[in-house]
This record gives sequence, C-alpha cells and structure tokens, in this order.
Amino acid sequence: MARSRRVRDESCEVVVVGAGMAGLMAATTLAERDVVVLEAAGRAGGRVDSARQGDYWINLGTQFTEGTGPLIDALHRHQIPMGTLEGKSVALSLGGKQVDTSNPFSLMFRSRMSFLDRLGLAAVGTRIIANVPFLEMAPEKRWAKRVRAKLDARRADFVLNGVKSELAREMVRSWSGQWMGCEPDETAATQFVYSMGILLTDPGKVPNLSLPEGGNQTLTDILSEDLGDRIRLNSPVNSLEWTADGVVVDYEDEKGPARLNARRAIVAVPADIAVKIMPGLPPEYRKAFDAIHYGRYVVVGFFTHEEGPQRWDDYLAVSTPELSFQAVFNHATALRRDGPRKPGGALACFAGGAEADKLFELTDEEIVARFTADLLTLYPELNGKLGEGILRRHPRVVPFWAPDGRASLPTLRQNLGPVYLAGDYQLDVPSLADAANSGQQAAEKVLASLSPRG
Ligand SMILES: Cc1cc2nc3c(=O)[nH]c(=O)nc-3n(C[C@H](O)[C@H](O)[C@H](O)COP(=O)(O)OP(=O)(O)OC[C@H]3O[C@@H](n4cnc5c(N)ncnc54)[C@H](O)[C@@H]3O)c2cc1C
Repeated sequence: MARSRRVRDESCEVVVVGAGMAGLMAATTLAERDVVVLEAAGRAGGRVDSARQGDYWINLGTQFTEGTGPLIDALHRHQIPMGTLEGKSVALSLGGKQVDTSNPFSLMFRSRMSFLDRLGLAAVGTRIIANVPFLEMAPEKRWAKRVRAKLDARRADFVLNGVKSELAREMVRSWSGQWMGCEPDETAATQFVYSMGILLTDPGKVPNLSLPEGGNQTLTDILSEDLGDRIRLNSPVNSLEWTADGVVVDYEDEKGPARLNARRAIVAVPADIAVKIMPGLPPEYRKAFDAIHYGRYVVVGFFTHEEGPQRWDDYLAVSTPELSFQAVFNHATALRRDGPRKPGGALACFAGGAEADKLFELTDEEIVARFTADLLTLYPELNGKLGEGILRRHPRVVPFWAPDGRASLPTLRQNLGPVYLAGDYQLDVPSLADAANSGQQAAEKVLASLSPRG
C-alpha cells in the first residue's frame, strides 16, 4: 500500500500505548469503552514470547507466571488447561554432578566443593535467609520498613562481604544473572534477597507458579484475541502530548503518519521508551524513569527429540554456573505428570547480566553454536537429538534499581492529568503479574475519571 505523508486525524476515548501484558490488561479492563491500542511491533505480547512444536512449547520471554490474580482469571475464563509445577524441583550442575537444590542443605553437602566454598555459601545463605521474614511481612510494619529501607540502600553484593570462596562469588553472580538478568553490584539488595530468599526458604511457593499449555504466550494471545481489531500492530508511537482535557498521540502505520486525539491515555511501554515518546515529562517523572534499569538475557530454546525418561525431567530449572549460560529451564516438566512419558521435550538456556552483555557482541550463529556445545557437555545424551536453536536477545528483562533509586518510584504511580502510566516497574517486585495488575489498576483509574456511559 502506498504511504501518504498527509497526517490522518483520528479520535477515540482512551488510547493505550503498548500491547505487552500491562497494555493488554488495561485495554481488556476498558473493553466496554471506545479503546484503541497502538503497538510498535508486528505482534502483541511484548516480553511474553513462546515458540510451539507439537505438544511442547518454549518460553523465550517470561518463564513462569504466578498462580493468582487477573492473569490466571483470564486463563480460567478461556478454559485454558494449566500445566502444573507441583512436586517439581530445581537443581545445580557443578563439576559434572547434578544436585537437587530445593533443599539448600543438599547443595552444601551433596555437591563437590571445598570447606572454604561451603563456608562461603553458608555466609551468603545466612545473609539472604535472615532478611526474608521481614520482606514477607506487611510493608507498613515497623520492622518490615526498617529492613526494606536498609536493603534498598545497599547493593546485592553485600551478601559476599568477606567471602573468599570464588565458587560462592560465581554462584551469587549466576543467581542474579539467572533470576534478574543483572550483576549483584548493579542492583539494590531488596529484589535479589527477595527472589533468592523465596527459592531458598520456601520452595513450597513453586507449585504456585503456573504454565498455561501452549506457553505464557497463550495468555497474551487470548487477551489479544478478545480485543480483536482494537489492537493496531506495526503502529509505533513517536510522541504523546497532553493538556488538562486530553491527549494527542502521533504514530505511524503502513498507511503513513496519523494523529490520534483521545480523552485519556495509558502509556504501557518500558521506562526508556516512555521518556523518549513523552518529551513534555516533568523533571521528577523523568528522574524516576531514569532510575529504572533493566536486566539483560540471551535465550536459546531447543525442542528435543529424546525417547524415554531423562535426568532433567523433574527439574523446572538447572543452574549451570560453569557454562556459557547460567541456567536451563525445562518447560516440558509441567507436562510430565501421570502416565507414560511422552517422547521429546523443550529446554531453554539462559545467560544474564554481564554474560548476556558479552554475548550481545556475537553473531546469532556464534551464540547458538556456543550454547549447543555447552548443552551437549551438560547432557551428552542429547547428541543428535537437539532441534535448531531459537535465539532471542533481550535488552530488557525485569526492571531493577540501584541503591536508593527506588525512592522516586511512587511518582510514577501518579497520573499526569489525562495520562496514566502502567508497566511492570510500577509495583513492588517487578513481574508479569505486576505488569498485569498495573495495567488493570491504571484502567480502573481511567474509568473512575470518565463519566459513566449513558
Ligand atoms: C526472557 C525473560 C524472562 C522473564 N521471566 C519472567 C518470569 O519468569 N516471571 C515473571 O513474572 N516475569 C518475567 N519476565 C518479565 C516479564 O516478561 C515482564 O515483567 C512483563 O512482560 C512486562 O510487561 P509490560 O507490559 O510492562 O512491558 P512489555 O512486555 O515490554 O510491553 C511493552 C510493549 O510496548 C511496545 N512498544 C514499545 N515502544 C512502543 C512505541 N513507541 N509505540 C507503541 N508500542 C511500543 C513493545 O513492543 C511492547 O509490546 C521475563 C522477561 C524476559 C524478557
């Protein structure tokens, strides 16, 4: 189609910018109103991305979803079958030995390590575990506030203070790379201690993680399907301006430039993009967005063609601190329940933080070749049974804050006149569920600000 340079004028009641989880949930909550979603990419879902083959899928973006909240309600509404992680475990592969680490003590006593390494890991574990009860308390409690403020003000690598063991240092780097996509000296301690602490102290939370059949993208697919042609793909927003009465959004699509006037906007794009498309942001909002950093991941997924039971079948994740990736996620474990084991499987190899930064310099072929070779070192029995590697480079995984950076976050929970912000950075521990909640909350505020439909 020929592109026209003439700017088309359009209007709607509410415009949502970005069709990731936050934008999709916001638009779903506003489904009764005249809502338009503008999405830059050729697909909805943002950081939710799954590849599928036969019975199996690989989550190339979001790995696991919390088993509660509006996300799961949407899956139930659509009667999507859920794979369960109940009874599944996590493991560590070290020196050629794979050890179940759902019980942290087995890590200490059943893997091959020196006394110094055991001592180092005990110090790290104690520092993490000692803080967890306070992070799990209601945030308004005095002790919860005090501990959170202390952790917000220090870097996550405080857990390594005085630790001489190289292995313990490598493990902490590997954990923060694997779960947050960043290095322990980049982030404030709160998020790191919280996510590691839950794994170490409360593996019972694991069954609460869910995997919809077809992968996490099933979630964003059903929301997109419901919204139909209200989502406009390949429509990047270049700028968004506002007055007290409404917003003006300039975007492009295959027909050329367009200007959309709306009464309200929900901006559901990552922090750095929000700053770029809203040049009129007041300084305190700009500062709060600038304080948000993102983890980085390189992911290579493989469909596999093995026949019988395998030694990774019951693990949802295996940490691999000695390889070019830090973890292997096994999505097929959600399908391994009763009955005979189906042939084949699906594995995703993850490198995060500084490791991902280094891999970003390589070509796609080099990354896939490196991960393939390392996966075969880990599981030689997969030789000849690996499908083609499916690569994703993620410059944004989950948001994190440097020490004291989070103090400006409450600003971003306030609307700017008719503009409301949504995204995974809005709530306490950034996640897919938080992205969905923030989209829903922004939409509810928009609804409350508009007069009811007569
Ligand atoms: C590899 C990986 C693994 C993860 N694992 C987990 C996990 O296990 N559990 C968990 O809870 N979370 C996980 N996350 C994080 C989770 O995916 C995110 O928190 C969540 O998807 C963020 O949703 P969002 O809607 O805020 O942002 P996004 O998904 O980034 O959506 C923003 C949307 O805005 C669009 N956009 C950008 N610029 C423009 C523009 N100019 N105009 C219009 N549209 C635009 C983008 O294309 C995108 O679709 C993971 C993330 C990654 C990348």
